[in-house]
Amino acid sequence: MEKIDFCPVCGKNNFKHILSCLDYTVSHETFNVVQCEFCGFRFTNPRPVEKEIGKYYESEEYISHSGTKTGLVNKVYSIVKKHTIKQKVKLINRLTRQTKTINKNLLDIGCGTGDFLSTCKKNGWSITGIEPSELARKQAKEKNNIEPLIPEIFFEITENRFAVITLWHVLEHIYKLDQTIEQIKNLLIEDGVLIIAVPNCNSFDRELYGTYWAAWDLPRHIYHFTEKDIKNLFSKFDFTIQTVLPMKFDSFYVSLLSEKYKTGKSNFIKGILNGLKSNINARKKKRGYSSQVYILKKNNILNIK
Ligand SMILES: [Zn+2]
Repeated sequence: MEKIDFCPVCGKNNFKHILSCLDYTVSHETFNVVQCEFCGFRFTNPRPVEKEIGKYYESEEYISHSGTKTGLVNKVYSIVKKHTIKQKVKLINRLTRQTKTINKNLLDIGCGTGDFLSTCKKNGWSITGIEPSELARKQAKEKNNIEPLIPEIFFEITENRFAVITLWHVLEHIYKLDQTIEQIKNLLIEDGVLIIAVPNCNSFDRELYGTYWAAWDLPRHIYHFTEKDIKNLFSKFDFTIQTVLPMKFDSFYVSLLSEKYKTGKSNFIKGILNGLKSNINARKKKRGYSSQVYILKKNNILNIK
């Protein structure tokens, strides 16, 4: 295990322990989350060392990697996934139409089995994927004829520049956080779009489910972001949030899973109802949605007088 001595967002060193929580999907070990006393950022501490985290992804239930479709929750997830991929590509096309960029290079960090990239390719994008899991890379090749790069190669890219860089539920897993954002900044064209989707630690479903909240997903999620944390983290690298968009299906998925963790069995109706409540409360109390998409852009020095 690795103890973190400095806040990954603000660099200060005073933290308070806020919760202990089980890894429900793989190891059934307990992990801790601390909160920075200075900036309020929440992160897993201590956390498994990077070279040992691989074993915490080895589960049939960890479907973002294995693509299995057993069980009701997973079936629903699979149907919704197809729909959300279409929405994601639509969003990218809309955002890049606004900037009128001729660069059609897109980089997806943590591309998994490449389903999103495959749809991007069909929409005329020249695609590159990065994926740490060997199994997921193998499935990307078999299923989508895509050959993702390993993360080590990502830091060696110097030639290519990208109009769009996406991290769909990936940032909360990344060990080399500063180094990754720095490289993203290098690889993004000046008016390029950075798209980050992460769970929202301020959401109604987080408050409702407490330690059973599925999006803690310890120890795989090593950071637990709010909108303020994303703003603080990316401002260090001269990025500004342009827009925050909801991921309305995630509240249902997270509530269904959380319900299962809490009671030991699936409760479809309750999960759906609590997902709905989360979406309603997101708007009412401005806590934000269960998961959110942050559209970020580099601060253009030429525009600052
Ligand atoms: Zn901090």
